[in-house]
Amino acid sequence: MAEWGSLPIREELRDAHPYGAPQLDVPVRLNVNENPYPPSEAVRSSITQAVSQVTIDINRYPDREATVLRTKLAQYLGHSLTADRVWAANGSNEIWTQILSAFGGPGHSMLTFTPSYSMYQEYARNTFTTFVSAEKTPDYHVTAEIALEAITVHQPQVVAIASPDNPTGISLERDVLTRILEVAPGIVVVDEAYQEFSSRPSVVGLLADYPNLLVVRTMSKAFAFAGGRLGYAAASPQVIDALRIVRLPYHLSAITQAVAGVALDYRDEMLSQVDHIIFVRDQATKKLRTMGLTVVDSDTNFFLFGPFDHPHDTWGSLVDRGVLVRDTGVGNYLRTCIGTDEEMEIFFSALEDVLAEERTSS
Ligand SMILES: *Cc1c(COP(=O)(O)O)cnc(C)c1O
Repeated sequence: MAEWGSLPIREELRDAHPYGAPQLDVPVRLNVNENPYPPSEAVRSSITQAVSQVTIDINRYPDREATVLRTKLAQYLGHSLTADRVWAANGSNEIWTQILSAFGGPGHSMLTFTPSYSMYQEYARNTFTTFVSAEKTPDYHVTAEIALEAITVHQPQVVAIASPDNPTGISLERDVLTRILEVAPGIVVVDEAYQEFSSRPSVVGLLADYPNLLVVRTMSKAFAFAGGRLGYAAASPQVIDALRIVRLPYHLSAITQAVAGVALDYRDEMLSQVDHIIFVRDQATKKLRTMGLTVVDSDTNFFLFGPFDHPHDTWGSLVDRGVLVRDTGVGNYLRTCIGTDEEMEIFFSALEDVLAEERTSS
């Protein structure tokens, strides 16, 4: 715990820790849901060229509106979207902060369904937004009954739902979402961080019918661009205008805009491993089940597996064998994302080892 001394830190931050999974230097890192495949030489050299081009007038501020990039993002999302319905920021984490700066704040509340992405609570805290939540079903689904009841009780200005969800990997049913959109008094934010891994269509297609829908996306996961820090959103022009009001001036650097644009130009290549990752996920799911474990069916590049009597100990035993997964604190499960084929082999043998060890010691 930090020693704050006489620093005038906010009361609710006194006992807080910075968010984030341990960045441990182990050979197999499967804990933050990255795409494990690095970009090709061709992509890397185009990125380098774009950066070199940007440096010519790096003495100038970048385009505040990031129009070129937003136009490309709109084309990528399809559904005839245009730049005025798309917004971009440094990771979807910044998009969320802007959403709550615009629509949350003192006297406003955000409703989520737990368990889900634990950062939602922190965005709320940071923006003085009241955080309210409702429990999902025991198998981690949001039903219309649960959602409508919570919305009726809390009347939240913001409803936040990750679909497919992190850490469960489960998607929200389309008819549940439309019921939510029909009764929510404010905006409904669907976090589609893992959409490219899902077999279901994006909810971007619902934007035309529901002006209170805001879809958040990221290039950090399927797009293999986590280090580039680019998140984006699609919504009505009015909602986008609200985000433009609270953004910091020149929030998106010229380098980020240029590099993300290059990654989008290479979208087919950037996304080329997605099908393979899905295939490996399904194979791994089967394999862990034959090992006697429960695996939660996932629409993403990760899944929950277990249960373990002492998940944190199992997590530690895997770390000892050079494999870093996530201890999410959900239902005695651990979460792993899908690595390269070699990484998965190491993961399987480490897990077999740990399970054998746990059996003999119990
Ligand atoms: C990984 C993740 C994000 C991504 O964050 P970035 O800031 O875009 O890297 C957002 N939402 C969920 C649910 C995630 O799992």
